[in-house]
Amino acid sequence: MLDFEKEKLLRELRRRKPKRVLVQLAEGIKKHAPEISGWIEPLGIEVIFSGETCWGACSIAVQEAEALNCDLIIHFGHAEFISSKFPILYIEVKDLLDLKPILKKSLKELNKFKTIGLSFSIQHRHDLKNIVSFYRKNGKKVILSKKVGNVAYEGHIVGCQYGGLKAIQEDVEAFLIIGNQFHSMGASLALEKPVVLVDVYNDNVRSMRGLREKILKQRAISIEKLREAENVAIIVEIKPGQKFGSPKFLLQKLKEAGKNAIVITMSEMTPDKVMNFYNIDAFIELACPRIALDDFYKYEKPILTFRESLVALGIKSWEETLKTGFV
Ligand code: SF4
Repeated sequence: MLDFEKEKLLRELRRRKPKRVLVQLAEGIKKHAPEISGWIEPLGIEVIFSGETCWGACSIAVQEAEALNCDLIIHFGHAEFISSKFPILYIEVKDLLDLKPILKKSLKELNKFKTIGLSFSIQHRHDLKNIVSFYRKNGKKVILSKKVGNVAYEGHIVGCQYGGLKAIQEDVEAFLIIGNQFHSMGASLALEKPVVLVDVYNDNVRSMRGLREKILKQRAISIEKLREAENVAIIVEIKPGQKFGSPKFLLQKLKEAGKNAIVITMSEMTPDKVMNFYNIDAFIELACPRIALDDFYKYEKPILTFRESLVALGIKSWEETLKTGFV
């Protein structure tokens, strides 16, 4: 049920006339590589697929493309997140699911709220008019989250940017996220008002309140462990859009707090790589902040976001972080 915007793809390729392209596919759509190759190669263009993980448009593979002498990156499955001098064609990919049944189902969960803040993951942008009109016909006032930070459109949500939702928080009674748990869980941690997920992939509608409380407990545990840690590592990644906090600043603050602190670079953080640094007691990762939040159970050692490390170091309070969010 996915629309890979083939016409746009071919139109852009005929216009730009690249000789060799590097194709990045978001996780979950990599299986479509042979099909996509079959569209591009007949134009006389050489196609190379990146096998590296691609969780967001923060992962644009400029280094790979340059090393392979490609003259264009085609990035499928995300909207533009950061600007780049390297030419990139974004194909957002539309999900053609019929949302009407699940929108109807959501009315029960929303019955206490008249004004709702709405955000959607990029695959549902093409359905926005229908979504908004559905809720308006059912007596709701809908306000789209603002285009703040690296999101591409009003209403668009990504896992590490919630400024656009915070900007409308005073004007709404609750937030409604059309998409999946990843975005709505992040939203529930960043916002004080209730967050309801319309989980289009699991066909259910649910409040994020319970999960929020559980994650907050995990975050408090990780912060406490960093306070107690003797050896600490700051992890930086080399992905262009994953720079959340200054390693230099943090290194200095950790040392001032009496900790042995080092900086480690990784192309992508994984439990295997982290495990090799077995004498490190806690890690602060300045790459995708969602690794710390979502992969709590995958790592034996505590992994913290930049903002959480400021709480452990006494630079910010827990209460402030509840307001600003953890990512
Ligand atoms: S940094 Fe993480 S949350 Fe943000 S866009 Fe990249 S993968 Fe998504």
